[in-house]
Amino acid sequence: MSATRNGYGSRPLIAVSSCLLGEQVRFDGGHKKSSWLTGPLATCVDYRPICPEVAIGLGIPRPPIHLTGDPGRPRAVGVKDPTLDVTIPLEAFARRTAATLDAVSGYVFKSKSPSCGMERVKLYGQHGGQKKTVGIHARVVMEQLPHLPVEEEGRLNDPVLRENFVTRVYVYRRWQDFRRHRLSAKGLIDFHADHKYLVMAHNQAAYKRIGRLLSDLKGVDLRAVADRYLGELMAALSRRVSRDRHVNVLQHIMGYLKKRLPGADRQELVEAIEAYRRGEVPLIVPVFLLRHHFRHHPDPYMDGQWYLDPYPPSLGLRNNI
Ligand code: SF4
Repeated sequence: MSATRNGYGSRPLIAVSSCLLGEQVRFDGGHKKSSWLTGPLATCVDYRPICPEVAIGLGIPRPPIHLTGDPGRPRAVGVKDPTLDVTIPLEAFARRTAATLDAVSGYVFKSKSPSCGMERVKLYGQHGGQKKTVGIHARVVMEQLPHLPVEEEGRLNDPVLRENFVTRVYVYRRWQDFRRHRLSAKGLIDFHADHKYLVMAHNQAAYKRIGRLLSDLKGVDLRAVADRYLGELMAALSRRVSRDRHVNVLQHIMGYLKKRLPGADRQELVEAIEAYRRGEVPLIVPVFLLRHHFRHHPDPYMDGQWYLDPYPPSLGLRNNI
């Protein structure tokens, strides 16, 4: 397997709150079109738009709803008419929807919505709008599919979170292909080996835990181990990567080239990594140099490392972190 030779896995399908794609499904008949989702990202992924409030028959336009009651299990009721309670239909639709998301590799939710908000949704009533909770649809989907990469459109304006989400989507897509068609003990070890430096950048401790999990696969229930592996992998990749963690991984990878590169090229690499550490150049600069040198000095192990090429470069995500 190679990031360079075989592409990035099959094209991801991402579930998304319909209004973010420009569909006029909001309570007031408007939309919240995201230019990044409908522009650059749309060139690399397909979407499955979902509007839970329209799906349960609330119509367009419709009376707005908000959340009240227990922050852990809020109710969705009409703003003007609290006898309008759509909690149960929203929860039931979310459960039905989650059961159909097998082919989906990520979900982008509309922030602040009482249905779709992933976090920090206002809870009204006795707490006076001060407490925050999770939208009904988003909560149930996340409970049913705890490893699915999820993010809110507002948080995707942060370049680090945006890069993190897209990385997780592509890893999850490759995992779905592997789990469905090629699950084997050797395959699992190879899958992990190819993601070694990605996991190391995000979470060194998780990398060691996963190593122990996969250290002896003789006679184990492989499907159970695969499920545990996915949980560890996605939890590790959800962590924000600091500049220092990237530097650490870049230096590790540079170690594979040390003896093969002339002194001037080695020095140039060291300087590129240090310039990245100081925030003078983006991550793509040292990564691009490493890829360039591995093209001239191929290494079968590094050729498989998704860290160097985790998703289509046309997205330009490493130009901004
Ligand atoms: S936030 Fe969710 S429920 Fe509201 S309009 Fe968008 S997709 Fe529909």
